[in-house]
Amino acid sequence: METQRKWSRWLVAFNLLLAATAFAGAAPIQLDVDATDATRSILHAKLHIPVQPGPLTLFYPKWIPGEHMPSGPINDLTGLEMSANGRPLNWQRDPDNLYAFRLDVPAGADAVDVSLDFLLPTGGGSYSTGVSSTAKLLDLSWNEVLLYPQTAEPLKLQYVATLRLPEGWQYGTALPVASASGARVGFSPAPLETLVDSPLIAGEFFRTIDLTPGEQPAHLIHIVADSAAALEMTPGDIRHFSQLVKEENALFGAHHYRDYHFLLTLSDRVSHFGLEHHESSDNRQVENYLTDAGARQTMPDLLPHEMVHSWNGKYRRPAGMATPDYQQPMLDELLWDYEGLTDYLGKVMAARSGLQTNEDFRETFALTAAALDHRAGRSWRSLADTTVAAQLLYLAPSSGTAWRRGTDFYPEGDLIWLEADTIIRQQSQGQRSLDDFCKEFYGGESGPPRVVPYTYDDVVKALNEIAPYDWRGFFQQRIYEINPHAPLGGINNGGWRLAYTNELPALLKTREGQRKYTDLSFSLGFSLGSDGSISDVLPGTPAEQADIGPAMKLVAVNGRAWTADNLRAAVKSAATNSAPIELLIENGDYFKTYQLDYHGGEKYPCLERDTNRPDLLAEIIRPLTPEPATNSAAKN
Ligand SMILES: [Zn+2]
Repeated sequence: METQRKWSRWLVAFNLLLAATAFAGAAPIQLDVDATDATRSILHAKLHIPVQPGPLTLFYPKWIPGEHMPSGPINDLTGLEMSANGRPLNWQRDPDNLYAFRLDVPAGADAVDVSLDFLLPTGGGSYSTGVSSTAKLLDLSWNEVLLYPQTAEPLKLQYVATLRLPEGWQYGTALPVASASGARVGFSPAPLETLVDSPLIAGEFFRTIDLTPGEQPAHLIHIVADSAAALEMTPGDIRHFSQLVKEENALFGAHHYRDYHFLLTLSDRVSHFGLEHHESSDNRQVENYLTDAGARQTMPDLLPHEMVHSWNGKYRRPAGMATPDYQQPMLDELLWDYEGLTDYLGKVMAARSGLQTNEDFRETFALTAAALDHRAGRSWRSLADTTVAAQLLYLAPSSGTAWRRGTDFYPEGDLIWLEADTIIRQQSQGQRSLDDFCKEFYGGESGPPRVVPYTYDDVVKALNEIAPYDWRGFFQQRIYEINPHAPLGGINNGGWRLAYTNELPALLKTREGQRKYTDLSFSLGFSLGSDGSISDVLPGTPAEQADIGPAMKLVAVNGRAWTADNLRAAVKSAATNSAPIELLIENGDYFKTYQLDYHGGEKYPCLERDTNRPDLLAEIIRPLTPEPATNSAAKN
């Protein structure tokens, strides 16, 4: 009796052990990535996945965090072969989920070996589907080169990754390194969630700058570029980026990373975007981003925006976007907070840290407000509809944006959260601000990455704790209802007014030069590229009334080959007489002259000071940790 009982207890323990090995507690998955062929646009990967005999489903990541859409680059997954104990296994794609592969693991096998290639994109696309490599560098997102087995909690599966790089290349990543010898790097075991959240940049021209020397946690900026010259950063810029780290930590009061790594890729050939992660951000910009002041003036808030996401988007995440795997669709409705607030804070942080001048900060808001106020699509769809349909709008072409609307929750988020900021300041007689909400809602306690989901109700409740107000009504009206006009209350409360001037503002002039376009949106009703192609025509403007549409190409103005200067001169001159402006336009194979009976002169958005109200905009962008900086802010 005694012996038997012992035996059965042993059996129970053994069965529990067996059950446990089927899940995340099993031996880690080995992932070996060979990037030595990256310069010819292909990566090779091998996985050793411990499994049990029987039916098995392996997934390729589909919904990539931060991309807000099912953008896993499945078309570039190639050469997929599976085997067990050296014998090939047949796999079949699930017709209901093209990112799922089904197979049978034979008796006696305890692992499946997978080998796959990833075709690095060579054109088009963005994020995971964007161009990520050149002859001199590679941006590696681990989700592109791995599969994971179906389990209850796939994000917790342990992976041990290794990477082989081209000879002489250096790298930067937030993923902790266990060993490195020559061109081979071995990483510490990490859960799938951390691995996918920790991209790596590598290349021949590479440098790392410590932005908070001697402090814990460390804040590093790793830069990889297509040339050695592009890595140059002035001491002033280093100071501004260091200041950025201090300002963000002062704003939130705590952090959710072990160390923070800005990954900055500078190349004219890769896709340009930023993608947020808990402990790093993947920032991709033009090659001269650091060496040409105009290039950075055009996009000063990229790094500030992506770092804000470590708190808003990664640590605090809308419940509908905190999915348990990479197959379940993300519900994007609260992007007006996740992206909208982050976009606003990114601009505020850029100004507070000195990456953007106060004048440019105001001009940015003028351009944003004017563009949104002229967006005719406001008459048929709410801002909330652009968030719910974000996965479509990220992929929409730019032509037709005025009528379709785009991912407007970014720029309109700037206006709405600016207004919320001014309301808190007014309601509390200047005692509180949106900064307090940020610290309260997104700050928490310092520690390693974790996700704390939130709902719309949580946002309303937290705002009410900072400053009692009808916040639900505020968001309902601005986000969930149709609004023919842009929300300008924040600009007005802030002591400024949206106005139009006939002088081309300095920031717009720089943008036009950098992006090679001419913007006459608020006079004739269109902007056009350097080759004359009209990108979009604003409904209700002289251009639309004259039947001009997108994809047409301007050839001549008043009988003479067009240039930006003579087009502007024609608009200016028409303001002083009654003759129409004549535009010769190419539409496919046909040419036609259009008469624009417009005499309003040049019009560019600007902010005008309203001296009846205090300048809250200046208050908002005043640094929390003015230079010379104290070190306390980064030490929490
Ligand atoms: Zn963002």
